[in-house]
Amino acid sequence: MYLITNQQDWPLLRAGVFPSGATVGFVPTMGALHDGHLTLIERSVRENDVTVCSIFVNPTQFNEASDLANYPRTLPSDMDLAEKGRCNVIFLPSVAEMYGTHVESIVADYGTLTNTLEGAHRPGHFDGMVTIVRKLLEAISPNRAYFGEKDFQQLSIIKELVNRENLPVEIVPCDLIRETSGLAMSSRNVRLGEQGRKTALTLSATLSAMRDGVLKDTPAALKAWGTNQIVAAGLRLDYLEIVDANTFEPIEKWENREMRILVAAWVEGVRLIDNADISPKA
Ligand code: AMP
Repeated sequence: MYLITNQQDWPLLRAGVFPSGATVGFVPTMGALHDGHLTLIERSVRENDVTVCSIFVNPTQFNEASDLANYPRTLPSDMDLAEKGRCNVIFLPSVAEMYGTHVESIVADYGTLTNTLEGAHRPGHFDGMVTIVRKLLEAISPNRAYFGEKDFQQLSIIKELVNRENLPVEIVPCDLIRETSGLAMSSRNVRLGEQGRKTALTLSATLSAMRDGVLKDTPAALKAWGTNQIVAAGLRLDYLEIVDANTFEPIEKWENREMRILVAAWVEGVRLIDNADISPKA
C-alpha cells in the first residue's frame, strides 16, 4: 500500500506504478476507520483495478469547534484496516495541502436537499462537505467514488453535485453497515460509554419499529410515536423526519414512492445519525 500526502504525487504514482488504463475507485473518509468504511474499500477493490482511500478530517464541514477537536484520529489502525481491505493507496493530505491559505467553503444551495434536516441543524456543514468532495474528486479523478447510505442526505447531495456539474465519475451508493446490536457503525461511537451505547440503540430500534408501522398509521402519527420513543429514552432529538428519498420533502400521506426515515440525536454529548428505507419495495 502506498501513502501519499501531496496532490501532485497521485498522477505520478498513477502513471508510474499502475498499468495505463487501470480503473480507479475512490473512498473518501475522515479516518477512524471501522468495518463500515471497510465495506466501501472492499467494494471498490472488487470493482476497480486500483483503490485510493483518502483520510482527511475536513475542518470546513464541522459547525462546532469541539466536535472537530474531539473527532477521533487513529491513523495506525486506519492503515492496518485499509491494508486488510487491500486498498492500494492512502491519500493523507494536510489542511494546507487541500485549502492553501484560505480554509473556506463554497456555498452549495440545492434547495431542500441542502437546507433541510442536516442542512438545517448544522449550518455550513454541506457547504464544507461539497467543497472538499469536489476538491478530492478533482485531485484523484477516479472512475468511481464510493459513499455510504449511513450519510443518506450527503450521498444525495453528492449525486446532485455530479449531475449539476457533469463531473466524470460514477457515484456508487453503499449499504449502511450496523453492529450486530443494530447500532449504525460510526467513527463517533468510540466516544460513547457503556450506557451511552445502550441508549443509542433506541435509534435503530425505533427506526425498525417505525418501518413495521408504515401504512398501519398516518405518517404524522408514526413520526409522533417515534419522536416519543427517542425522547423517552433520554436522547436529545435534533430531528426525526419521514421524507421523499429523492426530494427530501416531508411525506404527508403514504404513496408508492421512495421514502426514508432520517434521524439525528445526541447521546452523552455525541451526535448520532441513522436512517431507514421505507420505500414500498424495501
Ligand atoms: P466518514 O469517515 O464518516 O466521513 O465516512 C466516510 C464514508 O464512509 C462516507 O461515505 C460514509 O457514508 C461511509 N460510512 C460511514 N459509516 C458507515 C456505515 N456504518 N455504513 C456504511 N457506510 C458508512
